[in-house]
Amino acid sequence: MTSCKVCSLGAQHPGVTLDDDGLCNLCKLTMATDLVENFRYTSEMYQGFVNAGPNTAGEFDCLFMYSGGKDSTFMLDRFVNGLGKRVLAYTFDIPFESKHSVQNVRGMRDKIDAEFLLDSDDDGITKVMAEIFSRKPEKPGKYLDEKLPCYSCRSFFLIRAILVAFERKIPYIALCADPQQILTMESDVRKVVQGFYRTFGAKLTDEVFKGRIEEILFAPADDLPRIVFPYIGSRYDYDPDQMVTELKDKGLYSASPLETHCRLFGLLNLYSYTHWGSMYYKINASSHLRAAHRNPDQQRTSFSLKFPKALNVIELEERLRTTLFAISANEGDPAEHERELIELFSMLGATEDAAAHVARTCLELKETAAEFGIALPRR
Ligand SMILES: [Zn+2]
Repeated sequence: MTSCKVCSLGAQHPGVTLDDDGLCNLCKLTMATDLVENFRYTSEMYQGFVNAGPNTAGEFDCLFMYSGGKDSTFMLDRFVNGLGKRVLAYTFDIPFESKHSVQNVRGMRDKIDAEFLLDSDDDGITKVMAEIFSRKPEKPGKYLDEKLPCYSCRSFFLIRAILVAFERKIPYIALCADPQQILTMESDVRKVVQGFYRTFGAKLTDEVFKGRIEEILFAPADDLPRIVFPYIGSRYDYDPDQMVTELKDKGLYSASPLETHCRLFGLLNLYSYTHWGSMYYKINASSHLRAAHRNPDQQRTSFSLKFPKALNVIELEERLRTTLFAISANEGDPAEHERELIELFSMLGATEDAAAHVARTCLELKETAAEFGIALPRR
């Protein structure tokens, strides 16, 4: 297997090509023009939202996708108390997540002057995830295809939010995605819906949205909400530690920075190893290596994830692969696996508590797969 000499992305990674000198297209920045175009468009869209007056057609100026994590709490506070927007804070209760974020959302109700809507559909989201895990992705694949399960989950509840915004005549939907996600994300709600339809087909789409998708597909463009990405304006100075400090000062945040965690983490890695030969956070680790290579003195943080300066990605990736596949095959000693996982997650910059917690969810990956009807990805 060959991989990029700077960022260690493999030649088989979706959306990645290597040249004769062993440099990948991301390191050579062939995507730069796309990136600039996309950022320009999303910045203009966001400015339009900031400058827009109150929504005269309904009681809210925007629906805010609120996860309860630090990024969205920070921005929700800014929307309500800084920009003076009338906000419907929408939270989808993801059954695969540890419950901290939903608790955080509940705690926010009397602290921020917005209306809070807590939505859930365990059946629907579980069907969507079981389906995506059972599929063999198309090769050679596009940039970020290894994260398809995450995008499917997110598009599922984004579409539920789109239906709420449409019904209540809310003109904007604010989404706290990071710059890497924004690159591949649709800001046109009709395209979000069409993308889901293309991936999952008419039958499952109709079933999980109870036939309501057509309201969006056939509505006049002016009646549809527009998606804006608030972090686009602050993408160069994103600083998670500073953000957490500010939130704590305002009494809006008490959990540790690694407060949310998806119980599917182990399965997501198995998925990515099986189909693309790389660990789940490879693209994040690679962009860290790329930044460190360009600017060795600067401490860089990737959105939500902080990598240590010296990180042997290839070694870490191999060790994680060995352990996760051993767990899924019932091989080896669980206590040994736990020690190894804690060490690996600590190498990724996780705190002691977080590393132990993620390790435990990985040890339970077979039980988690069975609970949600997810097919175990095979070596
Ligand atoms: Zn590279």
